[in-house]
Amino acid sequence: MTTCQQCGGQGKIKCGKCGGTGQLQITEIETVSDMSQTFHTILCTKCDGERWQLCPRCYGSGDVHDNETSDVFDPEGRDT
Ligand SMILES: [Zn+2]
Ligand SMILES: [Zn+2]
Repeated sequence: MTTCQQCGGQGKIKCGKCGGTGQLQITEIETVSDMSQTFHTILCTKCDGERWQLCPRCYGSGDVHDNETSDVFDPEGRDT
């Protein structure tokens, strides 16, 4: 087992959609009034306000198996 390079062993990575804030700011234009813009802050739809996402590489464990790092190895073994 080696430390996951994707998350640095934390098992989670910062949400890419909200940038780690856990919130999204949406703009709503009031067409009934004078086109004034209203800002709404909602929970991030991707991380549900958690600000973090489970690391897709180690699935939250923070560790990866050694054999997962050897995917640069050519399985076809071209030995002409
Ligand atoms: Zn998010
Ligand atoms: Zn990870």
